[in-house]
Amino acid sequence: DTIGANLDRAVATWPDREALVDVPSGRRWTYAQFGAAVDELASALLASGVVKGDRVGIWAVNCPEWVLVQYATARIGAIMVNINPAYRTHEVEYVLKQAGISFLFASLSHKTSDYRAMVDEVRGRCADLREVVYIGDPSWDALLGRGTPGARITDDGLSCDDPINIQYTSGTTGFPKGATLSHHNILNNGYFVGELIAYTEQDRICIPVPYYHCFGMVMGNLAATSHGACMVIPAPSFDPKATLEAVQQERCTSLYGVPTMFIAELNLPGFASYDLSSLRTGIMAGSPCPVEVMKRVVAEMHMQQVSICYGMTETSPVSLQTRMDDDLEHRTGSVGRVLPHIEVKIVDPATGVTQPRGTAGELCTRGYSVMLGYWNEPEKTAEAVDAGRWMHTGDLAVMREDGYVEIVGRIKDMIIRGGENIYPREIEEFLHAHPKIQDVQVVGVPHDRYGEEVLACVIPLDPADPLTLDELQTFCQGRLAHYKVPTRLQLLDSFPMTVSGKVRKVELRERFAGGQR
Ligand code: ATP
Ligand code: MG
Repeated sequence: DTIGANLDRAVATWPDREALVDVPSGRRWTYAQFGAAVDELASALLASGVVKGDRVGIWAVNCPEWVLVQYATARIGAIMVNINPAYRTHEVEYVLKQAGISFLFASLSHKTSDYRAMVDEVRGRCADLREVVYIGDPSWDALLGRGTPGARITDDGLSCDDPINIQYTSGTTGFPKGATLSHHNILNNGYFVGELIAYTEQDRICIPVPYYHCFGMVMGNLAATSHGACMVIPAPSFDPKATLEAVQQERCTSLYGVPTMFIAELNLPGFASYDLSSLRTGIMAGSPCPVEVMKRVVAEMHMQQVSICYGMTETSPVSLQTRMDDDLEHRTGSVGRVLPHIEVKIVDPATGVTQPRGTAGELCTRGYSVMLGYWNEPEKTAEAVDAGRWMHTGDLAVMREDGYVEIVGRIKDMIIRGGENIYPREIEEFLHAHPKIQDVQVVGVPHDRYGEEVLACVIPLDPADPLTLDELQTFCQGRLAHYKVPTRLQLLDSFPMTVSGKVRKVELRERFAGGQR
């Protein structure tokens, strides 16, 4: 199916169910209204000369118009390019040029970002860019005015294998790469993710993760419309208080987040006063999900059926997911089993030989979900996807005897201290149990004698009673091998983050490479 055909089915099946709720503005759409609004916008784009294959950029924080643009572009076969709302002029100019964007939707402003001013600055240098429409601005209404009211746009001339979306990776390990994805790639993935947590038209999904990233737009929006569930937008960008309020007010049944978002919600003053009893499920994904945090989410947020997903932008994104009927140990201690119609293998990164179960190696995935390629970057595509169509994820993983997979860490994050391989993930998991630690990241920093040493960056639970290196080392004594015990401690208020909510370890490494013992 195409994304448009999938939406038609939702409109026909659940016309009066709620499809989309924007909590900040109080606006709401049923599926019938949502379908009509998508067609209206699609007809306006057609009237503006946007045709199949054109790149339409969206540089915006979360808002209902983001979702309308997602479906309207898919409806007419235009390729939507998701642009990170944290970008500044230099970066947006790069994306506008790299993807050859001819039509751009943008927010007006949010917090310290004045999108209009930034667009004005770079526009003259972007030859392909014909038109810019701002959300919540007269230019949006003018665009809609070009459409035909009551228009019905059909899928004629579209194929589900057409490219429909360019999504950039988070940029956790370096410069973001633009993954080109088809209807087939992302629609199937959204469908299966929703299927595995048994979404129905009764579900209401709170989506505080950014739409620009696959977590929001695929695991959120496409999973919702494939099952008739409702998309609830709590705020334009992540805000723990607004998220909990939205869950309570809208009686959400599902809540999404990367681990740091759940940590922020659980530690919000007054957390216990929110009524979260409507929640049954949700997804934690995007970076390692600490077992301690998972347990608190189950126990304190009513999310008995919470699921962990593992994936990457290049694979639409999800390839592994825990199931609702997995026991707590499997649901918290692994990233679950492979999704239907996807294959995984774990190989020795040096030789490419498949490893036996129980042995760590590079995780590779294959199936419908593998991207068409990085946009206009055939060499980078060839480095990531081999001739057998296997995606090399760059992540180290172990498959247990029972088929459940554990993510050990990124190959790039592995610490090599005096010839010993150290996986930061293991130490982070261990330290999460320390009563004075709210959040922790472990990185390798240069050391004269050992090559690298282990640095723990800690956000203390109570800044007035911070952890000392001595206390940290005592906690590890006898419980972690001596070479894994951090030799340096750095206390921080926050970590450098990507907009998708991941800690940029590269930045921590660079910042503290210099010493400060
Ligand atoms: P970039 O590729 O630009 O450096 P990125 O890899 O963070 O950034 P994404 O595609 O958003 O960009 O994220 C995919 C990565 O996120 C995976 O390769 C993996 O390292 C990590 N990841 C995702 N889900 C999980 C999970 N459940 N547990 C551990 N790691 C995860
Ligand atoms: Mg990546």
